[in-house]
Amino acid sequence: MSLVIRDAEIVTASYRYVADVRVEGETIAAIGAELPAESGDEIVDGSDQWLIPGGIDPHVHMALPFMGTVSIDDFESGSIAAIMGGTTGMIDFVIPSKGESLLATLETWHAKAEGNAAHDYTFHMAVTDWDERIEREIPVVVREHGITSFKIFMAYKGVLGVDDEQIFHILEATRDAGAFVNVHAVNGDVQLLLADRFAESGKTGTRYHALAQPPRAEGEATGRVIDLGAVAGQQVYIVHVTCDDAVERIAAARARGEPVWGETCTQYLLLDDSLYDLPDFEGAKYVLSPPLRKKADQETLWTALATDAISVVGTDHCAFDFATQKAIGRDDFRRIPNGFMGLQERLPLLHTHGVATGRIDANRWVELCATNPAKIFGLYPRKGTIAVGSDADLVLWDPAATGRISARTHYSRCDYNVYEGFETVGAPTRVWVRGELAAADGEFTGTVGRGRFVKRAGATRAAVPTFG
Ligand SMILES: [Zn+2]
Repeated sequence: MSLVIRDAEIVTASYRYVADVRVEGETIAAIGAELPAESGDEIVDGSDQWLIPGGIDPHVHMALPFMGTVSIDDFESGSIAAIMGGTTGMIDFVIPSKGESLLATLETWHAKAEGNAAHDYTFHMAVTDWDERIEREIPVVVREHGITSFKIFMAYKGVLGVDDEQIFHILEATRDAGAFVNVHAVNGDVQLLLADRFAESGKTGTRYHALAQPPRAEGEATGRVIDLGAVAGQQVYIVHVTCDDAVERIAAARARGEPVWGETCTQYLLLDDSLYDLPDFEGAKYVLSPPLRKKADQETLWTALATDAISVVGTDHCAFDFATQKAIGRDDFRRIPNGFMGLQERLPLLHTHGVATGRIDANRWVELCATNPAKIFGLYPRKGTIAVGSDADLVLWDPAATGRISARTHYSRCDYNVYEGFETVGAPTRVWVRGELAAADGEFTGTVGRGRFVKRAGATRAAVPTFG
């Protein structure tokens, strides 16, 4: 099977130029001006559109057992939603409970994903405890299972959270294994203390979910784990950065030349904490951790995207139904399942509010949503760019198409959408997954189960000096 996409403007992290792209089977075979057609070629006219590498979302949770329920999108609905928004790769988190084996939990995740995803995927491995078995398993996870990024939670004390001593062991062990660590940074002690204090004094509404996680507590933990990383000689990647206090620490570390990355998510750029004051428990729709912040923090984040203090935009897609799942916490914000959607909306919203407004250019948009996730997590250049030999995960993008986001038309299984009514400029018109047409003109045409787990041989590894 071969395909020639003619006359689209190819947009990668580095270039914009008009050319033809030939796809043979699952990969890009040639790029050039006026490529000759061969008999049997399918020809697609890409004129007046952009051709971009499919988005890669480095932060999603499919069918995650969490807070007494399971996140509503699984690898099937999640990957379809992703494709319909121009994303063709995701990185989910394997999350063992305390006391569970990393390797056994990995098998559970493989069983959830295999045969169900419509595009390729890989995993980060969370470490939620520290003991001899985990120490033994970390290098096996890297060497034999192709997982080169780990995850720790400074949040969720007592459940998933690890303390400084455990963090230090995990930083050293993952360093020795040739991998690195994603961090959910917040002062977990303070978060738990404040949340309990609010709830026990009758302050149980959604507003208190946000007040229990002040920006300064996120900034403190961000700075602390960056410093612990420097002492251990390990690089760290801070997930879902929301605020000025955290950006400041990341920017300072990068200015010192330390290997530190920051990721933010679509919602922290576009939604703010006034939503927690909505009546009738509507604020629960927006409960996630870290919480939404102030409008001023959004401006900081947009600037950080432009200056590369923040290098990646993900979503933390982890959706829960309002009617059945968010309702668990109706009487107590501590029990509201944390999370919501974003896989389908990320590219269109970043295009609308970033590229179309001039805050970032089209190259930077591709870099933030596809190329940097691929590079940092060891998927590049197989994924995340348009080059000869790369997987043909491609999106034909109409930068002028307009739309409106709604739960009535989204592909998530969730019964609401946090971006309900948001207007969008720019949309995918065709999406290919490894050469197969997976979406065309708003219809899913892909194959559930075609997505494969991608083993990673490595990840971006700086030669990290030990500062300790
Ligand atoms: Zn997450």
